[in-house]
Amino acid sequence: MTDLTPLFLGQSAEPLYIAGPCSAESREQLLTSARGVKRAGVEILRAGIWKPRTKPGSFEGIGDRALEWLAEAKREYDLRIITEIATPQHLDLALKAGVDGVWIGARTTTNPFATQQIADALRGVDTAVIVKNPVIPDVDLWIGAIERIYNSGVRRLAAVHRGFGTHQTTPYRNAPHWSVPIELHRRLPNLPILSDPSHIGGRRDLVAQLAQQALDLGFSGLMIECHPNPNEALSDAQQQITPESLKELIAQLQLRRSTNEGDLLSDYRLHIDSIDSRIIELLAERMDIAREIGSFKRKHGMAVVQHDRYNKLLVAAEAKAESMSIRKEFIHQIFSAIHEESVRQQLDLETETKA
Ligand code: PEP
Ligand code: MN
Repeated sequence: MTDLTPLFLGQSAEPLYIAGPCSAESREQLLTSARGVKRAGVEILRAGIWKPRTKPGSFEGIGDRALEWLAEAKREYDLRIITEIATPQHLDLALKAGVDGVWIGARTTTNPFATQQIADALRGVDTAVIVKNPVIPDVDLWIGAIERIYNSGVRRLAAVHRGFGTHQTTPYRNAPHWSVPIELHRRLPNLPILSDPSHIGGRRDLVAQLAQQALDLGFSGLMIECHPNPNEALSDAQQQITPESLKELIAQLQLRRSTNEGDLLSDYRLHIDSIDSRIIELLAERMDIAREIGSFKRKHGMAVVQHDRYNKLLVAAEAKAESMSIRKEFIHQIFSAIHEESVRQQLDLETETKA
């Protein structure tokens, strides 16, 4: 993809900031958001109109009617406007309302039939298209969706990393799995990748640090959910920030140095950081399972430590480590510490149930 052009015509330099409410809720809420976003120095307003909600019965967006409010925000505050589309019909209505771009949400990107239908409808249309990552951490599925859109002739194209659904214990709503966008960048180096720290974090107190992490990793911009009264938001209330916080967040971001010879080292370091965070996530997943095992043992009157099992595990881990040029004493130390923590977690569970 060497012939991509900037996402928005006349776009100023990176990073590219997009902000706005998760959903358009009322004319007043949208116009207030637009004013706040503009005051924070952001030129592109996002708002969802058709909301793909996990559970039926939750707020599913205002629908077509809200397009007029977006168009009004564009005129009134001289902003560019984008919204999520999931069908060719959404695309048609959004384009008629004068949107400057559309994004394809995580649930839609997961479905190749849906992305192909949108791609077909985009043939011959000059608009910005932003493809969020699929719900599962499958880089090929993400690239597949991007290629479908590209093959329709769209050249104003970007990806958004919004994290991946997980059943693991993580502090995030959607696990970042940084290695996935890093791999996307390796495979499609010309494609801008933006980060959506709001959907990754799921909590407003995590948004600023995730935004900084994304810029440190070399992402091209950010999409941030911003609502004039976040606690009252009809969707994603916990992760939206006020326009004032948005302004402050942007002011505090440290922009990454442009490319020079120091960058290779920093790329290695960032890669190490992403591996370290995967190690922690894997340990958390292992502890979750240990606790499950703990309750099974308790139910069946079994002792917490099964020596046979622990010895077998150690021998296997040491052998594997040696075959990969890691000293077995080192692995022994690490696994003893992991095992000790697992046992502690299982014992905690025992005292919890007795209490
Ligand atoms: C959104 O941006 O509000 C949204 C629904 O995002 P995602 O598709 O990433 O869940
Ligand atoms: Mn949202």
